[in-house]
Amino acid sequence: MAQAEIGIIGGSGLYSIPGLSKVKEARLRTPFGAPSDAYVCGMLEGRKVAFLARHGRGHRILPSELNFRANIHGFKQLGVERIVSVSAVGSLKEEHRPLEFVIPDQFFDRTRHRVDTFFGSGVVAHIAFADPVCGELVGIVAAACRKAGVVGKRGGTYLCMEGPQFSTKAESNVYRGLGMDVIGMTNLQEAKLAREAELCYVTVAMVTDYDCWHPHHDSVTVDQIVAVLLKNAENACRVVRETVAGGSTFSHSQNEKPPIAELAEKGRRGRGDCSSS
Ligand SMILES: [Zn+2]
Repeated sequence: MAQAEIGIIGGSGLYSIPGLSKVKEARLRTPFGAPSDAYVCGMLEGRKVAFLARHGRGHRILPSELNFRANIHGFKQLGVERIVSVSAVGSLKEEHRPLEFVIPDQFFDRTRHRVDTFFGSGVVAHIAFADPVCGELVGIVAAACRKAGVVGKRGGTYLCMEGPQFSTKAESNVYRGLGMDVIGMTNLQEAKLAREAELCYVTVAMVTDYDCWHPHHDSVTVDQIVAVLLKNAENACRVVRETVAGGSTFSHSQNEKPPIAELAEKGRRGRGDCSSS
């Protein structure tokens, strides 16, 4: 029997989920090496969940150093079918204010040093990725934000940059010109690998501050940013709880979907959104 059905990845500021009962830690090995930390498994709102601190508890791992494959493989081993990934981001639009959450439906890749596929070494496969997040989970998270009293905006593009340095002003302005909404360093590889592993995936992007394009960017103090991170983490815990509680409306499982080769075939025909069938 699955040890968990819903996986939660916590990013900067979110290193645990309060209110878990029957907590057990699972330290897993994978064919791709070690995940960022032990998975904290327990019950939340009557459902089995597994929590992973993306950067390790104590924040030990840089975005470029993350073993994304091991992290996603670990969830798969636990029997997880859905991943809710919580991440701190910078805002590329005036309208996305600090303390608001964006639930992106697209990603744009500006990374350079990442391994982001389980395939290769003789396994040749391609997955559809036109719709990189699970439409059903997006709806459930948006409803959870409403219940939790948090602004949760549906849709938008998450630009995934390499880091660890933040953007230059030129880069930030180019991204704005391209219509990007938020900028972060981690979620695209997770989304790709989750799709390859046939797991539903959604990103909860918590706006921490405006990226450097904003005229007020330089006047924001570290204390202010830390205060926003803490408040965002507190809000994220409520949103995660409501999301898990909303799990009774889960209607499909990626695991029931056709095998990857068939998904790839569908992708060539322009389908493949995990919520479309
Ligand atoms: Zn899905």
